[in-house]
Amino acid sequence: MPAVPVNETYDLIIVGGGPAGLTAGIYAMRAVLKTLLAEAGTCGGQVAISKHVENYPGMMDIIGFDLADKFVEHGRSYGLEIIQKRVAAIEPGLNFHSVRFEEGATANAYAVMVATGGTTGKLNIPGEQEYFGTGVSYCATCDGFFFRGKDVVVVGGGDTAVEEALYLAKIARRVYIVHRRDSFRASKILQKRAVSEGKISILFNSIVTEIQGGGGVVSGVLLQDTQTGEQRVLAADGVFALIGLHPNNGLVPQGVEMTSAGYVVTDEKCETSIPGIFAVGDVRQKYARQIVLAAADGCTAALAAARYVEMKKSSLLQTTQEE
Ligand code: NAP
Repeated sequence: MPAVPVNETYDLIIVGGGPAGLTAGIYAMRAVLKTLLAEAGTCGGQVAISKHVENYPGMMDIIGFDLADKFVEHGRSYGLEIIQKRVAAIEPGLNFHSVRFEEGATANAYAVMVATGGTTGKLNIPGEQEYFGTGVSYCATCDGFFFRGKDVVVVGGGDTAVEEALYLAKIARRVYIVHRRDSFRASKILQKRAVSEGKISILFNSIVTEIQGGGGVVSGVLLQDTQTGEQRVLAADGVFALIGLHPNNGLVPQGVEMTSAGYVVTDEKCETSIPGIFAVGDVRQKYARQIVLAAADGCTAALAAARYVEMKKSSLLQTTQEE
């Protein structure tokens, strides 16, 4: 990976290399914007850790990592500059915005795109931290293998929980889906599959209040019935907490409008309340969070950024000529 470009000025800097950021990179390069994409970890975001993706148009079944790799390859084919560096801050300016990297260097850009995605939610219950990595996981695709022939608990009722429970059913002996309400939020097709999967037991109106174990391994969970308050221990070897995403909004500059849940509010161009600062993908407030929608955000924002950069450059040129 190349070093942070010192005091370089770009047309566009994209912070985050998931489907939204990478699609923005592809469109920005096609629009001949001088573009830098900074990603702190491995490109691909949530997609890179998804086992099967079955709903990205044209891809009936593709491994998430492979799809992410295709996005990266596509961006690179246009010469997109990708650096694996952590951004410390995005500082809005009048003529340029600045992106400050953790290691000290700063790069400027007419437009900056926040594509930092989201992080999986935590249960915040006793035992969760203690057994993280030895029985508590937030990614069945990553850790399911360790529970071959064992009993596991999946917490959550959305698409991720049900999809991952179906994945785990192929590996584990028994999968308990524990959901706090009496109906799933997950899509009907996934619900139907879960109900007809013999290895899955669904426990509605239940919450996990504690993860129990000893000697570094999980032995079970303490369940509470949300209707009666009754508590019981359910024996299990692993717990997968799959309760949704929280927006990674730490780099969103002060002054940018956000919802009470911390998602960035944008207009239809994905532009925030600060001109030239865009937000795309899971960090943005929107109706649904899907790979195709993240990619769509990236496309929209890159096209809008191209227009913004063009106008900004010509207004700066005009100001210089007038001086
Ligand atoms: P989600 O849709 O927000 O669902 C989170 C689930 O966790 C909900 O059922 C919620 O319960 C439950 N929950 C939240 N906090 C909890 C807590 N503290 N304790 C217990 N349960 C809790 O999140 P997601 O399933 O990760 O999905 C995120 C987005 O990605 C969605 O738009 C989803 O459609 C999409 N997605 C799509 C696919 C696919 O299409 N193949 C796969 C994965 C994700 P309540 O229902 O009671 O709120």
